[in-house]
Amino acid sequence: MTTLLNDPVTRSKAYFDGEWRSAPKTFEVIHPGNSQTIGSVADCTADDARRAIDAAEVALQEWRKVNPYRRGQILRKWHDLMFEHKEQLARLMTLEMGKPITETRGEVHYAASFIEWCSEEASRIGGERVPSRFDHKRGFTSSEPVGIVYAVTPWNFPAGMITRKAAPALAAGCVMILKPAEQSPMTALYLAELWLQAGGPANTLQVLPTNDAPAFSVPFMDDPRVRKLTFTGSTAVGRLLYGQAAKTIKRVSLELGGHAPFLIFADADLEKAAREVMNSKFRNAGQTCISTNRVYVQREVAPEFTAVLSRLTGDLVLGDPLLDSTGVGPVVEQAGLDKVRAQVDDAISRGATATVGGHVRDGLYFQPTVLTDVHPDSLILREETFGPVAPVVVFDTEEEGLALANASEYGLAAYAYTRDLGRAFRVAEGLEYGIVGINDGGPSAAAPQMPFGGMKNSGVGREGGHWGLDEYLETKYISMGI
Ligand code: NAD
Repeated sequence: MTTLLNDPVTRSKAYFDGEWRSAPKTFEVIHPGNSQTIGSVADCTADDARRAIDAAEVALQEWRKVNPYRRGQILRKWHDLMFEHKEQLARLMTLEMGKPITETRGEVHYAASFIEWCSEEASRIGGERVPSRFDHKRGFTSSEPVGIVYAVTPWNFPAGMITRKAAPALAAGCVMILKPAEQSPMTALYLAELWLQAGGPANTLQVLPTNDAPAFSVPFMDDPRVRKLTFTGSTAVGRLLYGQAAKTIKRVSLELGGHAPFLIFADADLEKAAREVMNSKFRNAGQTCISTNRVYVQREVAPEFTAVLSRLTGDLVLGDPLLDSTGVGPVVEQAGLDKVRAQVDDAISRGATATVGGHVRDGLYFQPTVLTDVHPDSLILREETFGPVAPVVVFDTEEEGLALANASEYGLAAYAYTRDLGRAFRVAEGLEYGIVGINDGGPSAAAPQMPFGGMKNSGVGREGGHWGLDEYLETKYISMGI
């Protein structure tokens, strides 16, 4: 293992009310790769939150008036700085949450792509002229910033989940107060540092880590000046915050959990399909909201497909996420590992077989696993796994495959592999999911211009593209009599 103790990680404060501030209390950030402490960060309180809201109110008055071309230029500079700091950012993300370094380098590109897209789009936010039914009237719309935004983000994409929110918000002329996940606050602080370096005005992007998210969040939920909540995380917490936001009728965006099905039809290129399942299932050790959680394969090709998938899974290198040679790293923490183990044990107790993997190797490292003969009542077919386990289930007809795929409370992402064009359309149209990959296991890669988000219990609203920008804009209708 690479030792962490030489690592110059000093991001220990919070940025709010115009300054980098220490707090009387701090909390530790732990590297899941070896359970060593990386450092400590400020543990912000509800009082700090109130101070940040006051500062945001002042900052908003100026920022919303800044020429949109100028806002775009600052965003562009922020994007460029991310690339100048690419290696440091990637390493910090790997240290915080254990994603392999080759993937966190990719995340820098992914996260920066939202900033780039929004930097170009800032100057195109305008309005429309709409014909009136009356000759003496003219109708216009103007798009205006929603105002102060409270953002809450998860640890699984420590940079990407932030820029997917902050870039459109800042482009639109909103100001943001961000509460990053407890596991990955330093990446968030780093991004705030780069935003200020890029010329982002004081308090347009404030970042306050806390180890007590519920208490810290109260002032935001109660304060009518905070006009929007944007949340990415679990469905359980999203549901809670959705209710709390109702009090002050905030605009709400929720990017929640998923349980993605992957349908493999008998006419698919099996080797390609297995590789795409692998990428979708095992990247980030399966801790991705759009990770494949259920693999459905048509009966006539099930043995062959499972053999290919098991072989490829067995070839994955599980190990130190700081090494370039590692394909799968640890899961983020003990509770996550316990959930993975419980789901695998449950499936095996109901008759499933692990063709590869099936066990904890050591620490937080779970072996990449393929399960076959998975009983329909198994937990893993219902609950989000967030770990490197692929349960394979056999189906017979297209109708049955679709019905199985749709039998979920979630509706974030779904995938299908087929060479039949008619089936590709029928399946794409039949899947009740916000994101559908047909012969594509990575539809969200490098796609800041596309809508990302879910149906059913997977969320409300979309991030990315003009849909993501619209979430931060109010539409004002101006009627003029002449
Ligand atoms: P989580 O819901 O436990 O935590 C997410 C964030 O919410 C963290 O910042 C946490 O501190 C905060 N939080 C927790 N309780 C809170 C409360 N009572 N009040 C205010 N804030 C609170 O989720 P997680 O384990 O960090 O992330 C994994 C989940 O996120 C998975 O379900 C995954 O599918 C989902 N996710 C969804 C998307 C998407 O785009 N749909 C993307 C990434 C992750």
